[in-house]
Amino acid sequence: MSVACIGTGIGGASAIATGEAYLVCRGPVCVTPSWIDTHEIEAEVERFEGALRTAAEQLRSVRQQIPDDTPSDIAEFIDTHLLMIEDKAISSQPIHLIRNEGLSAEWALQQHRDSLMRVFEQMDDPYLRTRCDDLDHVVNRVVNILLEQHEPQFGSLEGHIVLAEDLTPADVILMKNQGVAGFVTDYGGPMSHTSILARSLGLPAVVGARGATSCLQHGEPLILDAEFGIVLADCDDEMLAQFEALRDAAISRTVELRRRRAEPAATHDGQRVTIRANIELAEDVAKARANGADGIGLYRTEFLYMNRPQPPTEDEHFAAYLAVVEGMQGQPVTIRTLDLGADKRPGAGLHSAASANPALGLRAIRLCLKEPELFYPQVRAILRASAFGPVRLMLPMLTNVWEVDQARRIIELVMQQLDAEGVAFDRGLPIGGMIEVPAAALAARAFATRLDFLSIGTNDLIQYTLAIDRVDDELTYLYDPAHPAVLRLIHEVLQASTATGTAVGMCGEMAGDVRFLPLLVGMGLRDFSMQPDAILDIREQLRSLDARELVRRVDQAFAAAQAEDTDVLLAQLIEPR
Ligand code: PEP
Ligand code: MG
Repeated sequence: MSVACIGTGIGGASAIATGEAYLVCRGPVCVTPSWIDTHEIEAEVERFEGALRTAAEQLRSVRQQIPDDTPSDIAEFIDTHLLMIEDKAISSQPIHLIRNEGLSAEWALQQHRDSLMRVFEQMDDPYLRTRCDDLDHVVNRVVNILLEQHEPQFGSLEGHIVLAEDLTPADVILMKNQGVAGFVTDYGGPMSHTSILARSLGLPAVVGARGATSCLQHGEPLILDAEFGIVLADCDDEMLAQFEALRDAAISRTVELRRRRAEPAATHDGQRVTIRANIELAEDVAKARANGADGIGLYRTEFLYMNRPQPPTEDEHFAAYLAVVEGMQGQPVTIRTLDLGADKRPGAGLHSAASANPALGLRAIRLCLKEPELFYPQVRAILRASAFGPVRLMLPMLTNVWEVDQARRIIELVMQQLDAEGVAFDRGLPIGGMIEVPAAALAARAFATRLDFLSIGTNDLIQYTLAIDRVDDELTYLYDPAHPAVLRLIHEVLQASTATGTAVGMCGEMAGDVRFLPLLVGMGLRDFSMQPDAILDIREQLRSLDARELVRRVDQAFAAAQAEDTDVLLAQLIEPR
């Protein structure tokens, strides 16, 4: 047995797949320069337009195969490719090249693709890089048709692990329908549409595993461990059986833990802890409920804005929020106002050009206060939804207390409007804010006195404290939630909560990582929000902890005379991986 390749795992804890490798050859298609005679021009234009029509038909047929219970944004991935195929920006230049320079259809399309790619590649923006992948997928599909190559046949994929240089979202849907066990790609990051889709469909995957398609053989048995992002090859029957047993044990454990989901979340010494779910789509409510979440601690509403040319209307916002509020059947739903910007870019035409340094740019609450027309419909919809169940409104990426004051003024204005219109809403709706910028953590008391609750967003707090771009996979080794500076900032926020009586929770990934649970419980955190798949493990782990003892040890650590002693004592509370 050997580790054959390493990439980024897409899938939760114990997301293991075993199966024979199925090598799908669909790397960049090879087009050789070719020209046509003058009398062939119109036929060549017709051949090109025919290939575009066939590609569109293929995509429409894929779209029809999407199961009804699949999250709605998945169909939108396909729609994006369809829109690209139907867009004149893709077709008019190749037609010009065929007519005026006598290029063959495939060579004209390839030339156009290359010039568009050069433009995309100069834009150092993760969202546009994803668009770049989309362009590649679309062009490859059309070129494949022109070259009379065919789509990979996914007829016998049941139980296989697919290997590919790259995969489109459409491929992932087809593969899922064929019962594929998982997939590995040479390229692609955890933020690509393909990865988002795999996560959402619960398909274990390892992406960005450079060289996977050249070093692994079609038909060889593989083990894919999406928790650690590794692919194992040369596996004997015994090793395969061991991993299959691990996978089966994880499935049985989930079933068993779900059976106990109604039991309250508490430590061994009886301290109650709230465990909420983070969701991106209204459809995620089902998993949150199945795992016994105490409400929604973070609803990332910016996903409503993606893969569409215009922002959602107030009614579209309202419909999504109502579905979540009704789905949670009386449990509180924390709706975060939009956090667009940085790596979360909306569809085209929504707001001003990306800044040179988007993570430090016009993002989240900054964007909403600068462009209130984006904010108003969302605030109105959140307030309207609050008439149907307990809703909390949460402001992202606060840095200055006056941002809270401004946002509150807007919310008050909207309340007055709704009152005047006779529209029902909860006047006592709690308004909270996220602490994800070091400045806000250090000034947490000032925020705590202006807000009804705080939530620590460790994903960004770590990025900004340690000066590392959270989406750059080359910096993953520096992304350390246990860095002493991060722990001191979290401590500061918890202290502010104790001093002011304002509730505080945590909704960054750190909250759902069992390694940090003893430390966070010891620091006094009692409100956690995490991806639904993490809830069962965290609740189980909680039952083994002695909160009083952990609090005593943390207090002792912070009372240490030397800062280094504090760091050492805190580090002792972190569970090894
Ligand atoms: C965070 O920053 O920790 C957070 C929860 O928000 P997001 O991951 O959406 O930026
Ligand atoms: Mg954040």
